[in-house]
Amino acid sequence: MRAVLFYEHGGPEVLQVTEFPSPCAGRGEVLVSVKAAALNRMDIWTRKGWPGIKLEYPHILGADGAGSIAAVGEGVTGWKEGDRVVINSNLGCGRCEFCLAGQDNLCREWRLLGETVRGTYAEYVVVPAQNVYPLPAGFDERLAAAAALVFHTAWHSLITRGNLRPSERVLVVGAAGGVNLASIQIAKLAGAEVYVVGSDAQKLAVAKSLGADHLIDSSEEENWSKTIYSLTEKRGVDVVVDNVGTTFALSFRALRKGGRLLTVGNTGGAKFEIDNRYIFGKHLAIIGSTMGNLRDFATVMDLVFAGKLKPVIDRSYPLGEVREAHQRMEEGKQMGKITLDIGK
Ligand SMILES: [Zn+2]
Repeated sequence: MRAVLFYEHGGPEVLQVTEFPSPCAGRGEVLVSVKAAALNRMDIWTRKGWPGIKLEYPHILGADGAGSIAAVGEGVTGWKEGDRVVINSNLGCGRCEFCLAGQDNLCREWRLLGETVRGTYAEYVVVPAQNVYPLPAGFDERLAAAAALVFHTAWHSLITRGNLRPSERVLVVGAAGGVNLASIQIAKLAGAEVYVVGSDAQKLAVAKSLGADHLIDSSEEENWSKTIYSLTEKRGVDVVVDNVGTTFALSFRALRKGGRLLTVGNTGGAKFEIDNRYIFGKHLAIIGSTMGNLRDFATVMDLVFAGKLKPVIDRSYPLGEVREAHQRMEEGKQMGKITLDIGK
């Protein structure tokens, strides 16, 4: 099969488009013929590596993918060759106490497809049968791949963990990333009033087109917590979605007393100072999560398939131009998801 491999960490130049033996579906697994994959920021981190990361080389990146079943492993029921599917990249063992409780993103042997397991930047990928979900006839594979990880993550954070309620006020910090664009739409669908802070007018315009009620341009209003304060009659918002991290200080100020800060990432850097007085003084809750469970995936993908949530695609590249695709994401130029076109 054609695949994107790398043998050492580094820049986009370590990615090689070449032939590699296709994997085989083992017991309980399915082989998926990938038609489209989508890029995530995690792909860059994995390519660059971090202290302690252990990969079986060559590694294949890619968490998101959609295509069709090419083969089913022993013991798999309910799927047959040719069934169209979208991949859920959250790999649980299916046996531990958390998986048994439906909390497969807390799995004791949790893994993420494409991070430490060979992923979707290839014509074929193997996943557990529970990690594929039916793709309705006529629904585009690019859109499905672009939706999967970001909507899954945002849904679990806002709805399952964040318990978002209609009429609540939600601030999303950042107007460009896939998870933030998904969060804006989910918050609107849930009946919330949505504030978005972003660093450029073009990206804010995308947020507005997705339903954001209030836009704040951080290039003009550096201390946007003040703006939130005045926009909310000195009350503050109920929920902040902050996947930047280094903006926590402003997010704490923007929250009302008893507010929740939801975080699923740290695009601004992993380590920063926190003023604890805000947390106890304002009764704040910081709620972290990664990915979501099987039920979240089914729920949110059904909403995507019904057209109630719309993945935003920035640009699609052929597999052979994967380096250019990585370059674009690394430069932060994209608005929405970057996808790769792979198989037929
Ligand atoms: Zn488990």
